[in-house]
Amino acid sequence: KPVGEITADMIDLLSKTSFPLCMQQLHSAFRSNHHLRHGGRMQYGLFLKGIGLSLEEAIRFWKSEFTKIMDGDKFDKQYSYSIRHYYGKEGRKADYTPYSCIKIITTNTPGVGDFHGCPFKHSDPDVLRQKLAGQGLKQEGVDQVMQFVKGGHYQVACARVFELIHGSLSGGLIDVEVSFQHPNQYFEESYKRLHK
Ligand code: SF4
Repeated sequence: KPVGEITADMIDLLSKTSFPLCMQQLHSAFRSNHHLRHGGRMQYGLFLKGIGLSLEEAIRFWKSEFTKIMDGDKFDKQYSYSIRHYYGKEGRKADYTPYSCIKIITTNTPGVGDFHGCPFKHSDPDVLRQKLAGQGLKQEGVDQVMQFVKGGHYQVACARVFELIHGSLSGGLIDVEVSFQHPNQYFEESYKRLHK
């Protein structure tokens, strides 16, 4: 459910304040490489649609970065179509739904050069530790999160990161049942807290 009017210009800031780790990773890879492969574009593009980015703003967002490495015509021919596709404007006009955590964790394992997937599941533990420290987590917090990762509780690990950044979720993390089911849920919960 969109939380309001989100424009392309807002994404850099939002990615820092309110995106879960999987989407932060896609965003920064896209900004540094000016490109994302298909799996990353699907995961990220549908998430952005889910946060309330309109089709027009989505095209503006993707085009501004892709045209750093290709001309506008090539972008329009190769990429506009697939973005319109996510919004159900092309092909079978299916209205694609943003991916859930389970889908991201269990399908389409990322390979070398891919940035999609769930960092809690797919990142090397040392790299993940660095990413968590980069979120401003203290050593103790990083260790806690890594315990959940070690136990295979990836979504709980993600929810714990949320709590360390934003404060307790309802009821707190009393057991491993409390977690996010969806990256868009993480975003909405964060956005709500920062914009109330
Ligand atoms: Fe993204 Fe879900 Fe993994 Fe968190 S648990 S990083 S929201 S896929």
